[in-house]
Amino acid sequence: GGITLHKVREHVWEIPPEGGMRVPARVFASERLLEEIAEDKTLQQLKNATHLPGIEKYAICMPDGHQGYGFPVGGVAGIDAENGCISPGSIGYDINCGVRMLKTNLEYDDVRGREEQLVDALFEAIPTGLGGGGIVEGDRGTVEAALESGVEWCLEEGYAVESDLAHCEDEGRRPDADPAAVSDKAKDRGRNQMGSLGSGNHFLEVQRVTDVFDERIADAYGLEAGQVVVLIHCGSRGLGHQVCNDYLREIEQAHGGLLSQLPDKELAAAPAGSQLAEAYYGAMCAAINFAWVNRQLITHRTRTVFEDVFGASWRDLEMELLYDVAHNIAKKETHAVDSGEKELYVHRKGATRAFPSGRKEVPEAYRDVGQPVIIPGSMGAGSYVLCGGAESLDVSFGSTAHGAGRLMSRTRAKNEYWGEDVQEDLRDREVYVKAQSGATIAEEAPGVYKNVDEVVRVSDELGIGDKVVRVTPICNIKG
Ligand code: 5GP
Ligand code: MN
Ligand code: MN
Repeated sequence: GGITLHKVREHVWEIPPEGGMRVPARVFASERLLEEIAEDKTLQQLKNATHLPGIEKYAICMPDGHQGYGFPVGGVAGIDAENGCISPGSIGYDINCGVRMLKTNLEYDDVRGREEQLVDALFEAIPTGLGGGGIVEGDRGTVEAALESGVEWCLEEGYAVESDLAHCEDEGRRPDADPAAVSDKAKDRGRNQMGSLGSGNHFLEVQRVTDVFDERIADAYGLEAGQVVVLIHCGSRGLGHQVCNDYLREIEQAHGGLLSQLPDKELAAAPAGSQLAEAYYGAMCAAINFAWVNRQLITHRTRTVFEDVFGASWRDLEMELLYDVAHNIAKKETHAVDSGEKELYVHRKGATRAFPSGRKEVPEAYRDVGQPVIIPGSMGAGSYVLCGGAESLDVSFGSTAHGAGRLMSRTRAKNEYWGEDVQEDLRDREVYVKAQSGATIAEEAPGVYKNVDEVVRVSDELGIGDKVVRVTPICNIKG
């Protein structure tokens, strides 16, 4: 409604600065995706984000973008870490929500006919849904150790092996974590959620590789056609949510001056260098570690389940981690901007880091080809592994999309779909799904998401994240 975009080039649309906009806004989308993006408040939220002090180049909406709390899901903002600000709403409530992919040496025929057994065993072993209960019963000390050390804590406790650290963004540990900046309330919420999927959109899905687009990179990633893989999607549970909530309230109160310059209260931001900016960054990094521990504990359980079901050790099944990517996060990174190299808080909310070959942050195993980027689609449509693209640093602060992106709200989804019908439909297509409730399946029906092939096409054609393989679901447990 009323927002005019200019076409810069294929897949690149710009809202030029006006009023309080400090920089332009850019949308990366095909014409079809742009029409979908323009249906909700995404474009207005993207314009609003350009008011954030210290924002560099432009506020970005990825092809999977849709409206979120203050800032679009599928949004990226690179903000001066010295003279700008940090904005919790532009990172998201589920801090370090993300995905990891586990490889196996199984083929589809090994799993076929055993989907129900596998799903039942996974559902039994991995806590799902809103309620309490985790894989580890954490006391305050355990939670604090996880906040401080991330996957290193899992290694010490026997829930991880060295190669799990090597194949995780930041090696599964943010060094800037400050557990003391996390409230007691947040820590308490984390205690019985260590190793749990959570609700709704979070899932564990067994898949098979159906298309290989780049043999060389697929080879470097250890992926090949027919191979069975496991995708795990979850975040920092109630702990991360509480951290976001705590700091949003504090920042709103302490930095009303900055807030009054912003068109939306939900963008509330702490000025770089302020006590609250430092405290929030430390707490957010600790919550990042907590989410990595969460995904690692689920990995540990998944390996055990596969050992039981397939009667071989996980090492014999070669259940190595491909990679783990965060998609709700802000990190200090150095990027080239007009005035030279600058340290930025790169806010990625529903967006994935997509660094190309060469960047020091890319793990050694992948440094020659670029980092793996994992893009879930839906429990019906399939998902992708991409490779960080050569253009990403110039075009998008080294980022790309994080999924297909929602097309409609959960409320509308429940009106349009009936869980049992969706489940049966999927069964007809040989995808076996188990969830806490029919409502969850309706809210997450494949039809509530945009077309993942189209999202990935845009990423690939822009050169920010390049297609490597496509995977198809076999069976799935939903939170
Ligand atoms: P979000 O983090 O925004 O909740 O979700 C990330 C993406 O995961 C969504 O945009 C959607 O494309 C994808 N997704 C949601 N549910 C499923 C599922 O059950 N299986 C797969 N493969 N992808 C899903
Ligand atoms: Mn999440
Ligand atoms: Mn997520």
